[in-house]
Amino acid sequence: MKVGILGGGIMGLTLGYFLTRNGAQVEIFEASPVLGGLAGPTELPDGTAVDRFYHTILPSDGHLHELCSDLGIVDQLRFRPTRTGFFYRGRIFSMNNIVEFLRFPPLGWIDRARLGVTVVAAQLVRDWHRLEAISVERWLVRVGGSVAFESIWRPLLRSKFDGSSFDDVPATWIWSRLVRMKSARSGASQQEGAGHLIGGYATLMKALAGKIEEGGGRIHKSRPVQEIVTENGAAVGLRLGQELQRFDAVAVTVQTPVFLRLIPRADAGYREFLAKTEYLGIVCPLMVLDRPLTGYWTVNITDDRIPFTGVIETTSYIDPQYVGGHHLVYLPKYTAPGSVWQTKSDEEIKDIWLANLRAMFPDFDSSHVRYFLVHRERYVEPLHGLNSTALIPPVKTPIGRLFLATTSQIYPALTNGESVTRHAREAAGVVLHNLGA
Ligand SMILES: Cc1cc2nc3c(=O)[nH]c(=O)nc-3n(C[C@H](O)[C@H](O)[C@H](O)COP(=O)(O)OP(=O)(O)OC[C@H]3O[C@@H](n4cnc5c(N)ncnc54)[C@H](O)[C@@H]3O)c2cc1C
Repeated sequence: MKVGILGGGIMGLTLGYFLTRNGAQVEIFEASPVLGGLAGPTELPDGTAVDRFYHTILPSDGHLHELCSDLGIVDQLRFRPTRTGFFYRGRIFSMNNIVEFLRFPPLGWIDRARLGVTVVAAQLVRDWHRLEAISVERWLVRVGGSVAFESIWRPLLRSKFDGSSFDDVPATWIWSRLVRMKSARSGASQQEGAGHLIGGYATLMKALAGKIEEGGGRIHKSRPVQEIVTENGAAVGLRLGQELQRFDAVAVTVQTPVFLRLIPRADAGYREFLAKTEYLGIVCPLMVLDRPLTGYWTVNITDDRIPFTGVIETTSYIDPQYVGGHHLVYLPKYTAPGSVWQTKSDEEIKDIWLANLRAMFPDFDSSHVRYFLVHRERYVEPLHGLNSTALIPPVKTPIGRLFLATTSQIYPALTNGESVTRHAREAAGVVLHNLGA
């Protein structure tokens, strides 16, 4: 059985790996010259390869650990204790243990306790379906109170949704984040920890690609697919330029707006259905420094005047020896559909970002910056509205022998290496089952 896979990101490669392990012959087509997609690498001017966007693996990411074991790269995982903080009124407040939590100055003690209750309440939710009908604002105010909402959650939500409305965002959105945040903590002290693969997610891509090729599969880079070709209501292959490559089945792993462009002749009803899923985009500078900036893994920003959402210093858990001796700080700005931030030039972004960093950190000086690289993507995080699970497209599409494994199907879990590899494994099961393998 020959399966053509579109996309060489974590989803496409993991899907290809599990299909190969089950005897299918796969051929993967990736548009860009490197594998990895959103989790792919970028090369710094000095030749050091680092993750293009920040990528953290948690000690609790069980599926990813198992996959790394299967691939023989589990010894490449490294973890370290980390710290999280909040930037509030010109200062970073550490929020790292229960004592710091209960001392958090922006709130009085009743509201601090209610903030703690919010985190605990999220862990106690057994049936997330109940949260799908409640807006994130209503749930946070109900559980944590309006003072904590106005001083912490509202600025964070405004920033995450790029200033646009979050009235239609369900409480599952914050629930899945609080559960993941808590899963980064372990032991009696609830110490936070984070990790990575030496070489970044590129190490995982290389190992997956190696196993696929060992199993007889083929991987083509710089090969953008122009169309999924169908005959009599079933997919028969992929069009690359003028060439048609035939397959017994096709599996697509790109985001749904990209998938839509590849099936121009599909049924109008299916196209309309797919078009309903919107995505946040991102503008994410990677600032490479000659010294640490904050020492925190993540500093959440609760200040509307600062354009970026957070300060993420991955070298708080990656030993700089693995990334050319540099210190890596990512400064993401999530963008709503049609956001003006996606239209700003790299130079404009750099000037605005550096001015804000100087205002936030008096010791920061532009002379500490070795490189400042602006990366951006339009489709990053699928947006799910209130009561909208019915809008999630199934893996088996209405087109025969055509399958879709994409991040918008991952809900309410966050889309990350853990959930994407788990989903890809399940999608491989759907493909094999439907093809009678
Ligand atoms: C800023 C940021 C931070 C993140 N942080 C974390 C984190 O801390 N931990 C974590 O585990 N995950 C994190 N993630 C999430 C993770 O990167 C994604 O969930 C994952 O990479 C999605 O993989 P994918 O294969 O589904 O999609 P993609 O990576 O988008 O892969 C799709 C691939 O399809 C290719 N393609 C598109 N069109 C065509 C075409 N016509 N023909 C052929 N190929 C095509 C693309 O080039 C791409 O390589 C983060 C992501 C971002 C953006």
